[in-house]
Amino acid sequence: MKLPAKGLTSEAIDQHLSALEAQDLNWRDGRIMGYIYAPREETLEVARQAYMRFLIPNPLDPTVFPSLLKLENEIIGVALEHLHAPRETAAGSFTSGGTESIILAVKAARELARRTRGIDTPQMILPVTAHAAFHKAAEYLDVEKVMIDVDPKTFRARPEAYAEAITERTILMVASAPSYAHGVVDPIPEIGAIALERDVLLHVDACVGGWLLPYFERLGEPVTPFDFRVPGVTSISMDFHKYGYAPKGASVVLYRDKSLREHQIFSCSTWAGYTIINPTVQSSRSGGPLAACWAVLNHIGDEGYLEMARQMRDATKKLVAAIDAMPDLDVMVEPDFCMFAITSDTLDIFHLVDEMKVRGWYVQPQLHTGQHRANVHLSVSVAIAPQIDDFIARLEEAVEATRALPSAAPPPGFAEQLGAMLGTGLSPETFQMLLAGVGVQGFTLPERSAVINAILDALPEQLSEQILARFMNELYRAS
Ligand SMILES: *Cc1c(COP(=O)(O)O)cnc(C)c1O
Repeated sequence: MKLPAKGLTSEAIDQHLSALEAQDLNWRDGRIMGYIYAPREETLEVARQAYMRFLIPNPLDPTVFPSLLKLENEIIGVALEHLHAPRETAAGSFTSGGTESIILAVKAARELARRTRGIDTPQMILPVTAHAAFHKAAEYLDVEKVMIDVDPKTFRARPEAYAEAITERTILMVASAPSYAHGVVDPIPEIGAIALERDVLLHVDACVGGWLLPYFERLGEPVTPFDFRVPGVTSISMDFHKYGYAPKGASVVLYRDKSLREHQIFSCSTWAGYTIINPTVQSSRSGGPLAACWAVLNHIGDEGYLEMARQMRDATKKLVAAIDAMPDLDVMVEPDFCMFAITSDTLDIFHLVDEMKVRGWYVQPQLHTGQHRANVHLSVSVAIAPQIDDFIARLEEAVEATRALPSAAPPPGFAEQLGAMLGTGLSPETFQMLLAGVGVQGFTLPERSAVINAILDALPEQLSEQILARFMNELYRAS
């Protein structure tokens, strides 16, 4: 782009943006499973107004903007209450998202171990179902990952696997409530008991489920205890920008004990400028997400959330039952939440993703990793709940259509061949050839992505990670 010499009118800008937006998946009709958690229009409007009011103020300095400090403290108060934290000792921070909350929890654990136990080569124990954000935290913070398998049938972490994996260098154990991929809650009470006995910190990743699970519990669902009622749980991450229905940029990291949160905070008075004290990763930021989150929580209210939870629970049950009745599809494990994974012995699951897209529904492919077969992730939000019959009907059609298609999987030996061809490096020419071979033109993806998914699925993980990073590196190019 070339900067216009004279600024454009607001109409011109609006026209341009709306033309661009037209290329995106249409989120407003609520047919995207994943990425989008939008409340009904009335609440969205309340969020917009609150966001705009605090668009410019900067939470960086709470003494200059005490309004934002108050909003944050109130959100944290609600979050701690919701997850039964001991109010005398507990504390938390508002962050930009689950990833930031997780990075901070790992950072706090690492600093504590370094400062009090002199550990400089820290390890953290991760079930294979833990969210990728922990892998990112490990990479950013240089913490070694100790991966543990999960039960092959229930996809829940096995408590004894933690017990076996603990060493003198363990700074943190991680469990999910629920895991994103399969929507099941790990046996947190048993894992908490081990954490207590062995004196290791335990982080529960309740990013996706923390807000909604207590409502499921109130609706009479059997919810495995996962919050601060469980002894041994020392920190929890919970996103408001998922099932709290706040706009993106809204998550919290919570600690049973404020003294642990202190290790999360960064302060700096050894540079030439103003004193920096940052509880979170970001420094300057907009007050918008915070104000919008506060507004959404207050606009929906407790009864509103309970009713939304009821709709999502009911729609999920209906969907699971419908899929259970389809001979070609299997629900991988009965979920504890309104998200789950399906797979098939008879169909190519990646074609199914494309066939759903043709029918106006976006669903997420999840590639094969370790113990897990390739599968498709389904999640139900309040926008999807009223359309669940349509989803089921389209899924039945998509299954029929997929049945007629040959497998998208590359021929046997392909992965090895490609691996050998790429060797240790991936030259720009080889990469271009590879992309052309799967129909990617000028970095726009083809309509159907089954072949790409199947190839990524067949490659060794390291190689597919390298290819994906390369693709991103090319995709973001100045224009
Ligand atoms: C979404 C999610 C995260 C990461 O959160 P972001 O908000 O995308 O950064 C972490 N854990 C789980 C279980 C999640 O579902």
